[in-house]
Amino acid sequence: MEPFRFPGLPARVVFGHGTLAQVGDEMARLGRRRAVVLATPPQRGQAEALAAHLGERAAGVIAEATMHTPVAVTEGALARLRTLDADCLVAVGGGSTTGLSKALALRTDLDQIVVPTTYAGSEMTPIVGETRDGIKTTQTSDRIRPEVVVYDVDLTLGLPVPMSATSGMNAIAHAVEALYAEDRNPIVSLMAEEAIRALARALPAIAADPRDRAARSDALYGAWLAGACLGTVGMALHHKLCHVLGGTFDLPHAETHTVVLPHAVAYNALAAPEAMGRIARALGAEDAAQGLYDLARGLGAPTALAGLGMPEAGIERAAEAAVASPYPNPRPLAREGIRRLLDNAYHGRRPD
Ligand code: NAD
Repeated sequence: MEPFRFPGLPARVVFGHGTLAQVGDEMARLGRRRAVVLATPPQRGQAEALAAHLGERAAGVIAEATMHTPVAVTEGALARLRTLDADCLVAVGGGSTTGLSKALALRTDLDQIVVPTTYAGSEMTPIVGETRDGIKTTQTSDRIRPEVVVYDVDLTLGLPVPMSATSGMNAIAHAVEALYAEDRNPIVSLMAEEAIRALARALPAIAADPRDRAARSDALYGAWLAGACLGTVGMALHHKLCHVLGGTFDLPHAETHTVVLPHAVAYNALAAPEAMGRIARALGAEDAAQGLYDLARGLGAPTALAGLGMPEAGIERAAEAAVASPYPNPRPLAREGIRRLLDNAYHGRRPD
């Protein structure tokens, strides 16, 4: 066994069907009285239903969360929050809603209870990426990490199949990079392998029947594990590339992860043989990169950056940005190799 450090696990978790009804109990456990419920505009109805359920313990609803956590949106929400008599935040939604909650917690230090409805995993991390004038800046702080996460499988039954597929691949990406993280440890590696196994089994079943409760439960369980990996160990080339691509070309988050993952894994394959063996085993595939590509294709998910709106001329720019500042990665970062990786991902070729 190699030497390691295990920092502990990120947050208190409540997992099950119908657990949304336990949000009030979780507030009481934290010693909180009144919550502002956060959502995106399309999920306002879910936030209002929760507020109605909380009754006197709801201070109001702010349903303005948007992708990439724009500072202007946060400042508007903060002004509104200050007019409400609230002592905690409850976020119901995907990574965008969790992002607004984290940005508000960063500014107010209010406790957060997050109820995730996608598989993005942001709820388990102390990280927020905020956008100002088109530039995304990432911050890490203990204030940002939610205190409690309530996973309610029932809230994911209506997540559309295309979003389930890409959000699930986004979760798998966290687990994949945890297996070759520089600061990996045996517990997180167990969680990562189990996350990939659970998601790889669940996603095809969800594509066949989106209301399959057992598959939805497996997928959310995998997403929790994957989010915990993301919140505990450092990510590498894949996450860096997706950050660069998302920021530079305004590409959609989960779809970008889905397209890039098999290619980033192929790039790292020879430098991380143990991780590759564990990924392949969890997928039930011969080869990690090929198995991930086949999983995405089988789900009907996007496989080409071209289809997400990236300009072909952007390949050079992204390769440049990906090697501009050093970060840990199993295989040294070489501009030509990364350009080739991006070229394959751009055209949707099978990884090589
Ligand atoms: P999202 O939160 O933007 O959700 C996409 C859309 O789907 C939204 O309109 C949302 O309201 C809707 N939606 C969510 N759940 C639904 C459901 N169950 N049924 C129907 N509609 C639903 O997408 P996402 O992929 O969850 O999050 C992406 C964002 O999260 C990005 O900004 C990304 O940077 C961030 N993120 C941050 C971290 C972190 O650790 N800081 C980790 C992962 C993702």
